[in-house]
Amino acid sequence: MTRFYLDHNATSPLRPSAREATVESLAACGNASSVHAEGRAARAAIENARESVAALVGAAARNVIFTSGATEALNLALRPDWRGRDGALADWLLLGATEHVAALGGHGFGDRFSRLAVDGQGRLDLAALDAALALAGGRSVALALQAANNETGVLQPVAEAAAKVHAAGGLVVCDAVQAAGRVTCTFETTGADMLVLSSHKIGGPQGAGALILRDASLHCGFPLIRGGGQERGFRAGTENVAAIAGFGVAAAEATANRSAEALRSESLRRALESELLRLAPEATIFGQSALRLPNTSAFAIPGLSAETMLMAFDLAGVAVSSGSACSSGKVNRSHVLEAMAVAPDLARGALRASFGWSSTLADLDACCAVLAQTIGRIRRKRTGR
Ligand code: PLP
Repeated sequence: MTRFYLDHNATSPLRPSAREATVESLAACGNASSVHAEGRAARAAIENARESVAALVGAAARNVIFTSGATEALNLALRPDWRGRDGALADWLLLGATEHVAALGGHGFGDRFSRLAVDGQGRLDLAALDAALALAGGRSVALALQAANNETGVLQPVAEAAAKVHAAGGLVVCDAVQAAGRVTCTFETTGADMLVLSSHKIGGPQGAGALILRDASLHCGFPLIRGGGQERGFRAGTENVAAIAGFGVAAAEATANRSAEALRSESLRRALESELLRLAPEATIFGQSALRLPNTSAFAIPGLSAETMLMAFDLAGVAVSSGSACSSGKVNRSHVLEAMAVAPDLARGALRASFGWSSTLADLDACCAVLAQTIGRIRRKRTGR
């Protein structure tokens, strides 16, 4: 059966070029810490990838720390062991209410954190940030704010928030997992001190990610994983060379094709949303009036449950998702929609379609066909005709 994949925000299919680099690297033998030719080849693969990943976000290669994924990078970044701009250890964490669970549950600040409200469109409430900074008084803060939300695609005002946090002497960690490769997202555009990336969201293999530092002056007194001195001592352990090599190639391709891929995704998303509203004018598109990623559409049709819809999509060969795939398997209530004050009944019907580098018109058509069938069937059932 032909499958149609519209779940790039959960994981993006492996780009053929990234696959080739990964397989080539898997077939080679070499520990990047060894000095012989095999070791040097593995080291070269990692350093090439470092250059490409750095280029995706306008960073210097030496400031890229490879990790096993974005969750690990967030666990490393969101600790009270980093010194802020004023040289003080961060001792209070501010988190956007719609951050990914990897930040909400993965930080190391214990109970020394507060969540910042978002508005009905899912955008950070900058007045809430002002109030939190004022309340923090002399404490040095760190802010965790994602560039784009994984469920809705809503873009956050990271640069504005970063200016406020910096004025208070704090640090900004930006989860750029969903934004990188889809919109321009660099140190310059975000003003962040640290950026977090994930290989598998940009068409690289699963099992690699990166924490990228603004500059070498940022330092952490207590690395997450200790042992050998890999990744400049920030992340010990033999590197996952094959995944990192694939990550690098995916980053290079995402950088080169970003505008074209974004344009294509956006035209598919627009077409999907206009067909959705034609079939069900009562549908809600979450974050519709905010700036959003070009590839993401999160919506609900009153009275239709996400479970019913997901099953219908899957049976027809269409992969979409409900809420956040990272916490799913079952359809949980979305903390993102809750923070946006979406009524629980409507939130229960939330679906997400996300396009990407491999998306085609056939994916859109298959998705629209299932929407039409399901909406028609439910309407007939309700009206008894
Ligand atoms: N941050 C965001 C916004 C995400 O969407 C995800 C994964 O869904 C993560 C972090 C975690 O990434 P990884 O799967 O690389 O650990």
